[in-house]
Amino acid sequence: MSCFSVDPNFCPECGNVLPLPGVQDMVRCPRCSFSIPVSEFSGQEVKSTVVFNPVEQSTLSLEDEEDAELKGPVIDRRCSRCNKEGMIYHTRQMRSADEGQTVFFTCIHCRYQEKEDS
Ligand SMILES: [Zn+2]
Ligand SMILES: [Zn+2]
Repeated sequence: MSCFSVDPNFCPECGNVLPLPGVQDMVRCPRCSFSIPVSEFSGQEVKSTVVFNPVEQSTLSLEDEEDAELKGPVIDRRCSRCNKEGMIYHTRQMRSADEGQTVFFTCIHCRYQEKEDS
């Protein structure tokens, strides 16, 4: 009986050849009325049963912050590490209001970051 379950084209109950999946979402064995979902029959993952916890997506905020350093106007500033021109200009508000804004320059070539306090 074990050989029946290896090939999904055969009924695991009686070994009869199963019909090809049609418009219905179930494949039914014509001999013993065994039936399996088409998604399982074709060996593909059943999307509806794979439920990701949407709460975990909020933990991606750290990656978003790193991406932000590569978004902004590119200026002709020369990177002091790789000596190529082209750095992204962006500012970041410091936590304390007294410190004001700090200007960051991120090299588009080597991602070296320089900062200037304004
Ligand atoms: Zn069968
Ligand atoms: Zn550089």
